[in-house]
Amino acid sequence: MPKVYNFGAGPAKMPEEVYEIIRNEFTNFEGSGISLLETSHRSSTYLKLNKEVQDVVRRLLNVPQNYKILFLAGGGQGQFAAVPLNLISRTGTADYVVTGAWSAKAAKEAKKYGKVNLVIPPTDRYVNIPDQSQWNLDPNASYVHICTNETIHGVEYDFIPDTKGVPLVADMSSNFMSKKVDVSKFGVIYGGAQKNIGTSGVALVIVREDLLNQTLPICPSILDWTINAKNDSILNTPPMFAIYIMGRVLQWIERQGGLDVMAELATKKSSLIYNIIEESNGFYCAPVAKNVRSKMNIPFRIGSIEGNDALEKEFLKGAEALGLIQLKGHRDVGGIRASTYNAVTLEEVQALANYMKDFYKKHS
Ligand code: PMP
Repeated sequence: MPKVYNFGAGPAKMPEEVYEIIRNEFTNFEGSGISLLETSHRSSTYLKLNKEVQDVVRRLLNVPQNYKILFLAGGGQGQFAAVPLNLISRTGTADYVVTGAWSAKAAKEAKKYGKVNLVIPPTDRYVNIPDQSQWNLDPNASYVHICTNETIHGVEYDFIPDTKGVPLVADMSSNFMSKKVDVSKFGVIYGGAQKNIGTSGVALVIVREDLLNQTLPICPSILDWTINAKNDSILNTPPMFAIYIMGRVLQWIERQGGLDVMAELATKKSSLIYNIIEESNGFYCAPVAKNVRSKMNIPFRIGSIEGNDALEKEFLKGAEALGLIQLKGHRDVGGIRASTYNAVTLEEVQALANYMKDFYKKHS
């Protein structure tokens, strides 16, 4: 089969080396004679793995000791509910900074459990992040929620907001482990794993200990951070295989040299694509303001900022013929989207860049 270049937004490309490890360990996990799929979550084998995956998260992100690391079922959206259920009781109100479709969804979910204050004016064109001086933060909020990288709209923070002591909660589903982050600036960081750190079904949650013990009584136990922290993420049968894969992906990142290496690569890869867009005399159009352009998800249109359906269809068809797949933009925004997560290599992005150049030449 000819080489396939996967630019999907998630579930996204996994490192090839990790597949080899999974293949080798699949039916006989660490010499136990059985697969992890048929191993008890209370066994010493799983307890060891549970600790191993927590340890690699702590090392990579330099997570301070006063933060718990949790692996919870329900993916990113499970945490859209868990965040208010665990945090909103302090004042009954929360701040949401809506910079794209995912933070909008998170805000909508939170409204079920308390009052939500929208920090920046609502819009349906997510192309920038207003300067913090224009934010309407509520000093009485229980927390401030942001999405550090909007997977659909391609808007990524280039700063950590100053929330004046109110706990900052961040959905990092689509740029988790793509660069170093000062965890101590956040109350909670969470994300689904299926983009940069593994496969779907599990959320990685990093929560500061002083934010525990204020869960709303109606919170289901499986979403309750305090209960899950007490049970070391083994309250019920966890998504063990997804947690295992997360661990192997994170160990792979570590072997590559860690988050600085991932960050440098992300800059190189995304610049390759953004530069072609910039140099195309308006043939390719990236809607997002330059300072907040995502290094993980690059949405763009062809022909004009509104897009030209026929040209975009032709682009996608030609790309697929070359093995460049999963480039179709999200149905909410249309156009093209190239996702350049950790596992996507520079050579693969170069192949897309070459195709974009050829396509441009043919049509200009
Ligand atoms: N947040 C962001 C930024 C996402 O990109 C996604 C999924 N694309 C989610 C949350 C939801 O994650 P899940 O599908 O695991 O619930």
